[in-house]
Amino acid sequence: SAMVIDGKSVAEDIQDKLTVEISRMKNKFGVVPGLAVILVGDRKDSASYVHNKKEACESVGINSYEVCLPQDCREEELLMHISSFNDDPSVHGILVQLPLPSHMNERNILNAVCIEKDVDGLHPLNIGRLAMSGREPLFLPCTPKGCIELLHRYNVDIKGKNAVVIGRSNIVGMPAALLLQREDASVSVVHSRTKNPEEITKQADIIISAAGKPNMVRGSWIKPGAVLIDVGINPVEDSTDPRGYRMVGDICYEEACKIASAITPVPGGVGPMTIAMLLLNTVTSAKRIHNCN
Ligand code: NAD
Repeated sequence: SAMVIDGKSVAEDIQDKLTVEISRMKNKFGVVPGLAVILVGDRKDSASYVHNKKEACESVGINSYEVCLPQDCREEELLMHISSFNDDPSVHGILVQLPLPSHMNERNILNAVCIEKDVDGLHPLNIGRLAMSGREPLFLPCTPKGCIELLHRYNVDIKGKNAVVIGRSNIVGMPAALLLQREDASVSVVHSRTKNPEEITKQADIIISAAGKPNMVRGSWIKPGAVLIDVGINPVEDSTDPRGYRMVGDICYEEACKIASAITPVPGGVGPMTIAMLLLNTVTSAKRIHNCN
């Protein structure tokens, strides 16, 4: 049965190294990396992601600054907070937790974060640079970067392989497809309008799934020996869980285990890697801004 790709332990390893690096930066240069996280509205899942990010900052020694704005907050007010973090020299990374309330224009907001502090890698300029050869993006989006990092850590060959990305969102699917192409994979993208998803995923040596649909990818969709990276985090009812629900991925884990060569679990796969990549991007940013190496 498939090898389990242990994102949790890889993320811990990355965070241990960051802890050492951050203390070196502090001792040698007097620099402490700082991350500002802005949460708008009262979505429970967003609040818990922000909480986890803040805790992770604390555990490695990054200063975190949190701003929580009400659901009905005006776009101008959010822009004002972004602008003051842009100007704050103790802040090296700015993250606006998505999704935003529907009355806000996400593009305006992402555009307002200065690209030197765009640790989420979602500024149009960073995405544009990711899509074109030439000037490198300053930051790669955390979730796709975490997926590729897992493939590297587990010595999965990407070059020349058939990769399928399920989903084409701005934050996961689209940048994941771009990153895989940078790694010289031949990439197909499957999305909600795709007519024959199963036929396409069946060709894949590597699948990155970010559809947000519990257990959508069945055993029959998978080529024997494929490597599966499951980004999906989907609540399903579970009366045996004290919360009444538990989280599952997009990929039917029990079926996939029998066919794939390696698979990420949910939870404990991509989720922890996203946070580790955010911390890494913040440290990279602080080093770049203060010229410490
Ligand atoms: P989204 O809703 O913005 O995008 C979903 C994408 O999947 C769309 O492009 C859509 O075309 C495609 N899709 C939907 N139904 C489909 C179907 N039946 N067949 C094929 N494609 C289909 O979601 P998102 O923000 O990209 O997140 C996707 C999933 O990943 C969610 O479960 C989310 O919770 C999870 N997520 C996890 C992390 C992490 O750190 N692990 C980070 C971000 C998102």
